[in-house]
Amino acid sequence: MRAKLPVVVIVGRPNVGKSTLFNRIIRRRVAVVEDTPGITRDRLYAEAEWHGQKFTVVDTGGIVFGEDDPLSEQIRVQAQIAMQEADVILFLTDARDGLNPDDMDLANRLRGTTVTPAEEQSRNESERRPRLFVVVNKSDHPGRDLVANEFYALGLGDIFPVSGLHGRGVADLLDEIVAVLPESNPLADEREEIPLAIIGRPNVGKSSMVNAFTGEQRMIVSEIAGTTRDAIDTVLEYRGERFRLIDTAGIRRRGKIQGTVEYYMVDRAQRAIERAECALVVIDGSEGLTDGDKRIAKIAHDAGKACVFAINKWDTKEPPDGCPRQKSPLKKDLLQIIHDQIPELGYAPAAFTSAKESAGLEPVLDTVLRAVENYSFRISTGQLNRLVQEAVFARPYTSKGKALKVYYSTQVSTRPPTFTLFVNDPDLMHFSYERYLLNQIRRAFPLEGTPIRLAVKASHKREGR
Ligand code: GDP
Ligand code: GDP
Repeated sequence: MRAKLPVVVIVGRPNVGKSTLFNRIIRRRVAVVEDTPGITRDRLYAEAEWHGQKFTVVDTGGIVFGEDDPLSEQIRVQAQIAMQEADVILFLTDARDGLNPDDMDLANRLRGTTVTPAEEQSRNESERRPRLFVVVNKSDHPGRDLVANEFYALGLGDIFPVSGLHGRGVADLLDEIVAVLPESNPLADEREEIPLAIIGRPNVGKSSMVNAFTGEQRMIVSEIAGTTRDAIDTVLEYRGERFRLIDTAGIRRRGKIQGTVEYYMVDRAQRAIERAECALVVIDGSEGLTDGDKRIAKIAHDAGKACVFAINKWDTKEPPDGCPRQKSPLKKDLLQIIHDQIPELGYAPAAFTSAKESAGLEPVLDTVLRAVENYSFRISTGQLNRLVQEAVFARPYTSKGKALKVYYSTQVSTRPPTFTLFVNDPDLMHFSYERYLLNQIRRAFPLEGTPIRLAVKASHKREGR
């Protein structure tokens, strides 16, 4: 699984030299072509490397604004993106212009949400605030460094005079940057085992399925005391992965608990899902889809977990041995029913099993593995922006005479994949358009088995004036 690279974001008012410094850091000449508004902006991000440390650089100057967007809007968007995404913020200023009111504006937006070098000593390890460097660009020769001193007035700590154009001071700056970059992003994936909740109505065959898994020679099994009072988890090794099957012991002891079956069933499923990454929703294929199945499946969806259906007892549906095996139309019908009746789980795949005959066990675990991999899916900022911009370009959205603009998109987390779009006005975003964008993402990346989430943020705060 791909870990996210640390992110360095360059902010600063226009013409201070953001893209010049960006190009120098990535050591590449990027043709700065006039972007068609709303279409690819490759100038925005690139991967860079310094002393073996890789990171992503974002040039917020690459964001294309409309002609009617004021500079203050641009500064707000920059500040927000920096605070949302950056491990390091390079606050770029211009030694030739000296300190400027727009610099002050940006400084005020960044203050308090970042860590300046001076504050580094008292920095709390657990909090993840970006590190801020005030970089005074166009310090082409030492004579200019005197001017640079006036940027101490920003009150953001030490300053770094550089010349993006000639390279002066850039190596020293990069040394400082890589020294503070996190080794790996906190979003990086370090999973040791896959917690899998096996849930479903009573008698659909959950415990039979666990028993069938444990009876298979290729699946190595051990029982480990779980964290909750009465749960004993079963650990299963399959294709080099460890699955922790959650709550199966409780399910095995189901005989003790009678009566409020519905309450018990939902409660049990909920508690199992809390600890899981993926839910295996077992359905009794001989009965078809019931209301209880739907309720259970929705629990997995609402919890934002990966989800796979196991349509069990399929032995009761297959023609007996000796009969000509034709592709059973029933399978397709049942899948259709599931997707029609639980539309929010349209992403959840299904596998057909017979716990009784130990059939379909490997396919169901393979399906779970794919779902879990998708659950940790990560897309690069560049790819995501291109995708979203193209989607918006193909179908622009206007409401009450105002066009929705998406300035920038980024994936903020995995498990499940969650994307944030910075837009001019979140009130313009209609759920049908949100669904359109999610569908476009799924067209490019089907992400079978995992929910994906979209958050919309204002690129500016309403200041209540
Ligand atoms: P951006 O709008 O912040 O991305 O700024 P650009 O990178 O497009 O640069 C604006 C202008 O400043 C261009 O004419 C650059 O050539 C010039 N410039 C950028 N860096 C330096 C520098 O270090 N020294 C000097 N003298 N000019 C620079
Ligand atoms: P649970 O309550 O979901 O754990 O269900 P059990 O595993 O206890 O199974 C309930 C009943 O269904 C038992 O009588 C099982 O023998 C039967 N059963 C489970 N799986 C299958 C299957 O794949 N095919 C058939 N025909 N019966 C099954």
